[in-house]
Amino acid sequence: MFCGRKESETELGVMVGMNNTYICEDCAATVQQLYSQIREQVNATKPAPRVSVSDIPKPKAIKAYLDQYVIDQDDAKRTLAVAVYNHYKRLAQPESEDNVEIEKSNILMLGPTGTGKTLLARSISKLLNVPFTIVDATVFTQAGYVGEDVESILSRLLQAADYNVEEAERGIVFIDEIDKIARKGDNPSITRDVSGEGVQQSMLKLLEGTMVNVPPAGGRKHPEQQYIQVNTRNILFICGGAFDGIEDRIAQRLNAHTIGYDSVQSNMDIDRSNLMQYVAPQDLKAFGLIPEIVGRLPVITHLNALSRDALKRILTEPKNSIIKQYVKLMEMDGVKLSFDDDVLDYIVDKAVEFKLGARGLRSIVEAIMKDVMFELPSRRLKSYTVKLDYAKEQVMKSESLASHKIKAAS
Ligand code: ADP
Repeated sequence: MFCGRKESETELGVMVGMNNTYICEDCAATVQQLYSQIREQVNATKPAPRVSVSDIPKPKAIKAYLDQYVIDQDDAKRTLAVAVYNHYKRLAQPESEDNVEIEKSNILMLGPTGTGKTLLARSISKLLNVPFTIVDATVFTQAGYVGEDVESILSRLLQAADYNVEEAERGIVFIDEIDKIARKGDNPSITRDVSGEGVQQSMLKLLEGTMVNVPPAGGRKHPEQQYIQVNTRNILFICGGAFDGIEDRIAQRLNAHTIGYDSVQSNMDIDRSNLMQYVAPQDLKAFGLIPEIVGRLPVITHLNALSRDALKRILTEPKNSIIKQYVKLMEMDGVKLSFDDDVLDYIVDKAVEFKLGARGLRSIVEAIMKDVMFELPSRRLKSYTVKLDYAKEQVMKSESLASHKIKAAS
């Protein structure tokens, strides 16, 4: 053995080199560990390529790219496209000669769950080919309390960047459920609100751009741990949240403004069925985000609840739509799979009925396809069409959907 142990002392050994030397599992693991440590060090010092303006896709191109994956949500797509374009222009600008410094534009997306917020952020990062991570704001607590420190957001980004600090420093972080750390009530609390306001305070410095000591492995900070320094100045933060009930605040504000000379005129212009589109910073404050956080999220956009038509298009149109994925799976068995149009309508009906939105489409299609996927590969069929009666039958007997059926009924 390479390490001098006898063959009988180790369970497995692999021959390395020419002269009958074997390496045992323990040594192989040590070597592997050494390699990854070296790789981390090399990556940490490797300069990331500088962005040049001509390399950045223009807002229209960004929107067109998003259109391939995300259905509807035009307003959010346009806003995101511009914000992301400006963000990367900012990275491309040479050291300021004229003292005009373009400020960072972190983004806030409001909209019901399952409408495409995460999908949009993920698609943007794919297009730009930058490190991307998703974190849930609810797992964080103020420093000193049980839970994760906000710095661990950056640990995850570092992991996504394969520990290349420079790469991570121009990545994108999606912070989901930011509305869940709103402080309760409009007034700054006298008793400190650990779960909400405290977390917002600690998140502030990340959003505005600062040097942060990041524990490489995430979790809690520990005095003996070695930290990696990450500058968040150029990291783009996209926050998302459902902000349930914010429409009331928006309505209140709009009503207050529309009492006056122009009230009749402005009231007529307001689309009461979709108040989210009028969201303004003061509504976010009223909802419980601290003013400093609102100030650090200058770009605000909203996503709409998905219509039946949008849900149906989501099934078939996106580049990697659910239906396309199943068709591809079957194609590999030489079977041409198709769905009758009324089956697609039925799937949408069920998603609406179970109140699952777009999130539910996959589990419904999965329930319908479960037996087909089991049977078809062993049958010599050239094509197979999923019919409505069959789809209904499969959904009825699906146990995985049963809990949703009960929930929806209650
Ligand atoms: P959110 O972050 O708004 O809660 P997600 O982006 O995670 O929702 O969406 C959940 C899933 O639903 C996605 O993986 C995607 O398959 C589908 N989906 C939601 N909205 C859309 C949309 N507008 N276009 C295409 N697919 C969508």
